[in-house]
Amino acid sequence: VSALEADASFLDSLPALVAPTRAVHHRALSLPFRRESYDLAGFRRLIGSVPVLDDPVTVRRRSRDYYWFSPIVRASLDGRHADLVVEPRDEAEVMAVASACARLSIPLTVRGAGTGTYGQAVPLHGGVVLDTGRLTRIARTAQGVRTGAGARIAAVEDATRAEMLELRMHPSTRRLATLGGYFCGGSGGIGSVTWGGLREPGNMLGARVVTLEETPQAIDLTGADTGLVNRTFGTTGIVTEVEVPLAPAHAWQDRVIAFVRLVDALDFSLALAEDTTITKKLISTHAFESARYLSAVLGSAIRPGSAHVLVMVAESDAGAAEALAARHHGTVTLRAVTADAEADPARTPLYECSWGHTTLHAIRQQPDISYLQALFPPGRVVDLALSMAERFGAELPLHLEFIRYEGKVAANGAQLWPFTSVERLTEIIAIHEEAGVFIANPHVFTVEEGSRHKRVPGDQIGFKRRVDPHGLLNPGKMGAMGDG
Ligand SMILES: Cc1cc2nc3c(=O)[nH]c(=O)nc-3n(C[C@H](O)[C@H](O)[C@H](O)COP(=O)(O)OP(=O)(O)OC[C@H]3O[C@@H](n4cnc5c(N)ncnc54)[C@H](O)[C@@H]3O)c2cc1C
Repeated sequence: VSALEADASFLDSLPALVAPTRAVHHRALSLPFRRESYDLAGFRRLIGSVPVLDDPVTVRRRSRDYYWFSPIVRASLDGRHADLVVEPRDEAEVMAVASACARLSIPLTVRGAGTGTYGQAVPLHGGVVLDTGRLTRIARTAQGVRTGAGARIAAVEDATRAEMLELRMHPSTRRLATLGGYFCGGSGGIGSVTWGGLREPGNMLGARVVTLEETPQAIDLTGADTGLVNRTFGTTGIVTEVEVPLAPAHAWQDRVIAFVRLVDALDFSLALAEDTTITKKLISTHAFESARYLSAVLGSAIRPGSAHVLVMVAESDAGAAEALAARHHGTVTLRAVTADAEADPARTPLYECSWGHTTLHAIRQQPDISYLQALFPPGRVVDLALSMAERFGAELPLHLEFIRYEGKVAANGAQLWPFTSVERLTEIIAIHEEAGVFIANPHVFTVEEGSRHKRVPGDQIGFKRRVDPHGLLNPGKMGAMGDG
């Protein structure tokens, strides 16, 4: 937690924009800026006793997330902030805030822990930030666990592990992020190698959504309808509760395995991902140019010049995973118990080197580093990864997270990219897409520009019209609504 929390102020130490190109400036300046002066006194009167924070430093900090992971997004969003933060304590207070915003035409941006990227939680047009931090109820249900949107993921698992159960998956920001924020801004993470991403059927069970209207309604979504609020950056309703399924909790073991040849690291990763007899939660694969940034945390477990695979495996299957690694010429360089590191704020569980954390460790050491997001499709992961690694080498250090995608083994790419220019980014994306690697561009801040399928599904837009008829929820983030 401490490392991530420290990053809230880390932004201030970053150099001013890293080599921005003219295109970046152009884009930043061309963003329509609808900021008006809102009737904040009237808003406060309407919301009565709902807690409000208006100290300028706090308001600015609660208006930020990890938008600075992309220098391009940063150029557009630097300096954007809300006017007030509210901290409702229950759904009735959420409704009071929603009603006041609707009546006075004040934009509202929901915030969990603010660990999202692409500026998901950065208000473009001022207004109110609704912080879910006080909505923390946790209750077991027949199918899993139902929580207030602001419950921290770590706290949810502290509760469920008493029954030897845990979440199917969590982001690498587990120790800080909220379950509601994960629902509305996340995609997958540790556990997705077994269960797939959040959107795979069965991974989200329910969500309760408050509409932004003069008289707000609460709508219960179940099953596939929960997709209406997933990864829409809080533009399709204020989620007050979420429900997710649980999986058996294992005594997870962390392993780092070094491979002299990248091809062996990839073959091992694929074999482990496909072996359904070995229970695992993480397979994070790095060319040396990516792994080297992890040596600040993993020390001598990172071998000079070698590719590395970070693995979380059930204790009972650790021997089988190590034997598989040996058959692929891998050498185990670190063995640890995940829970031991999790319990100690001074230590780093291995998953805090994977997924988005790899980029974080790299930026800390080299502030001009940014990243790409890709899907290496089932059946072609190793071939495409090798061909992209050969083509780009150190320009785009290879970093893959193995996942299940529609039931088959695939890999998310989170390749590191030392920022050069928007033009080069466009070329890199085109080369990947021509080869058959799908890109979800992390250098944009609207829902659909970043979408892998380049569009927001129609049902999300229809739902948005229903729950946000005035277009006040995080305006500017769902471009298809023409609100940007
Ligand atoms: C270092 C690092 C590592 C990461 N690793 C992963 C990863 O492994 N997997 C992954 O999927 N993501 C990852 N992320 C992104 C992010 O951490 C996760 O998506 C996280 O779950 C967001 O939770 P949060 O509580 O911080 O949400 P926030 O950042 O506060 O919010 C995320 C978005 O959801 C909206 N939102 C939040 N709560 C609500 C609500 N109650 N109702 C409506 N809208 C809401 C916000 O407006 C915002 O648009 C990572 C980010 C960083 C910086």
